[in-house]
Amino acid sequence: MIYLDNNATTQIDPRVLTAMLPFLKKNYGNPSSPHLAGRTARKAIENAREIIAECINARPNEIFFTSGGTESANMAILGITDAIDGAIPVITSQIEHPCVMNTCRMLENSGYLVTYLPVDEKGIVEIRKMEDYPIPAGAVKLVSIMLANNETGVIQPLHKFVEMLKTSAGAIFHTDAVQAAGKIPVDVKKLNVDFLSLSAHKFHGPKGVGALFVRKEFSLKPVIFGGGQERGVRPGTENVAGIVGMARALEIAVRDMERNTRKMLAMKNILINGLKQQSFTGVFINSEGADTLPNIVSVSFQGREADKLLIKLDIGGICVSSGAACHSGASKLSHVLKAMKVPDTCNRGTLRISLSRFNERHEIQYLLKVLREIVKT
Ligand code: PLP
Repeated sequence: MIYLDNNATTQIDPRVLTAMLPFLKKNYGNPSSPHLAGRTARKAIENAREIIAECINARPNEIFFTSGGTESANMAILGITDAIDGAIPVITSQIEHPCVMNTCRMLENSGYLVTYLPVDEKGIVEIRKMEDYPIPAGAVKLVSIMLANNETGVIQPLHKFVEMLKTSAGAIFHTDAVQAAGKIPVDVKKLNVDFLSLSAHKFHGPKGVGALFVRKEFSLKPVIFGGGQERGVRPGTENVAGIVGMARALEIAVRDMERNTRKMLAMKNILINGLKQQSFTGVFINSEGADTLPNIVSVSFQGREADKLLIKLDIGGICVSSGAACHSGASKLSHVLKAMKVPDTCNRGTLRISLSRFNERHEIQYLLKVLREIVKT
């Protein structure tokens, strides 16, 4: 199997698994228990919190563990909108992952004023003057704009939006950094955001564990209720092995980022050059020329259907995904490409090819060979 769907999820790094195993076997204590087994688990969690905080230049007490990116984003958006009396306007973009998009839609249905910022043809969020939006002057706003897009890999110029919406207009700022973390530097002080969502399985950690950075000035209201874990903000017995694995995975990704970026970029260039060769016609690379993650290529085969391409690639032993989101299995047009005004004939035939440090050049060559055969027929 050639796995080129690393924006959907990644393989667990063997070193991560090694770090996790003791907490699934011998050290299975509940971190809330005061005895030795509990204390061992608690120590591992606090150590992981310190590692993750250091990786993103936060303080350990600004890190809350969750079940993943979806829960982190929900916690940030709902925890803060609920915490402020009355409905506060929310500003987001048209290209967010459903974990932000659908949370905002829910707020909109509950009477909140939500603005979905458009993007240009490369997929970069566009913000005009605040006066262009129907937001009461001086109102506290919540903004949620992703750092890097999961379908195109476009890295947003977040500093511009933070400057305009937070520094100048006083908004509270959340960013979904699920795809960015481990692939590009993520520094909460430099980004100057108030909340930031992470998910371990996107950087060779385990599934079902994530974190939310909450700047120390803010307190969130819990979205779920239970015991006092994670300072009452995210109750429920902690996923100790997952948390340990997440810290180890992020530590490795941050430490080896330069080397892995070089490796992935070299493969990405082979892929893009190969796709541009004459044997492919009606092929368009999306977001070309924009600042993108080093591991992803979004490519449209005009007039084709991505689902059919996917099946043929699958038969050839290659896993990629369609441009449209990969969670429901439903084949529909990508809302991200739609927002970028990619014509439907291209949108429908879009593949998302996403690499990792575990891929090798020969796999890219093989993908190109199989693709060439498929599009000839
Ligand atoms: N945000 C982005 C940009 C993603 O790509 C994903 C996963 O596909 C998520 C959030 C959701 O993360 P999780 O799968 O950990 O809930």
